[in-house]
Amino acid sequence: MDEIVARLFAWYDGHCRDLPWRSTRDPYYIWISEIILQQTRVAQGYDYFVRFIERFPTVKSLADAPEDDVMRMWQGLGYYSRARNLHHAAKQIVAMGGFPDTYDAIRSLKGVGDYTAAAIASFAFDIPKAAVDGNVCRVWSRVFGISEPIDSARGKQMIIEIAQTLLPSAHAAKYNQAVMEFGALQCVPRNPDCPSCPFAHKCVAFAGGRVGELPAKSHKTKVESRYLTYLYIHTHEALLLHKRTAGDIWQNLYELPLIERSAALSPEALFATPEFAEWHALLPRYIYKGGIEGVKHVLSHRVLHASFYEFEVQGALPCPEGFVVVPYNELGRYALPRLIERYMQAKIP
Ligand code: SF4
Repeated sequence: MDEIVARLFAWYDGHCRDLPWRSTRDPYYIWISEIILQQTRVAQGYDYFVRFIERFPTVKSLADAPEDDVMRMWQGLGYYSRARNLHHAAKQIVAMGGFPDTYDAIRSLKGVGDYTAAAIASFAFDIPKAAVDGNVCRVWSRVFGISEPIDSARGKQMIIEIAQTLLPSAHAAKYNQAVMEFGALQCVPRNPDCPSCPFAHKCVAFAGGRVGELPAKSHKTKVESRYLTYLYIHTHEALLLHKRTAGDIWQNLYELPLIERSAALSPEALFATPEFAEWHALLPRYIYKGGIEGVKHVLSHRVLHASFYEFEVQGALPCPEGFVVVPYNELGRYALPRLIERYMQAKIP
């Protein structure tokens, strides 16, 4: 075995965390954990994993569940396309007659990319395929001093080749787990503890004082600002929600009636919009109860600037097409984006 891998395994034996998806070879559990952890820290993902597996203990139970149930179990995790893809892929797996056991068949599942397919294939079936995620890129680009940006096709390919060359085919699962754990705990993005590192004697980045520069990236992702004005229209018993269906953020989640503009709306600006004029005409008597402005919510490529204005309706709530009237005691059945959930928690603690 390569000296680097031997050192990596020795480090892993002494440092690996005891996580529930590590002690199983069940591809279903591994798949769920990998999808949850794609954009989520382990500390947060752990509870979601346990709850998700309790609610959907088998692929079949996930495939048979209504999509709203799946979205509700995902509420708060963000990147909701992951939940939709999981649901779709569960149906694919059932149609295949069981969980696929080859890399290509796993890779064909909706929402499963190269990394996730390699992770499932190696962890569940010991298929010798290197799984290369952000942690792995960071580790090998530093150890081998790869200056090529890891978000370029060439840079990524260089890392994949290094990772695959080092992989001991008899220990694919342990090797992939170990590199990722090493990147998560030891070779961390900022200020890693290099003097205590088992690779310190041969790490190119450490020797050359380039740890802060690597891995190199070619460009920063452009961040878009959006301005959302929400209307909290309610009686003492119920409120109005709307299901997002367009190919945009939070698809299939529920939110309050929304007006979106290229800048934030003050109450005066809101009252002058045609959308508000429609609500005004539609609502029976109501009391404007004020609002909250300047709520900032950060997503991966977007910064949302939200305002919430409250209207207490006297009489029955109207229910225009595309909206639902939700009694407060049934609100828990609806998957809400975190931004809306936080506002509602403040309103009805
Ligand atoms: S020496 Fe530092 S930069 Fe190099 S692999 Fe170890 S922790 Fe990472």
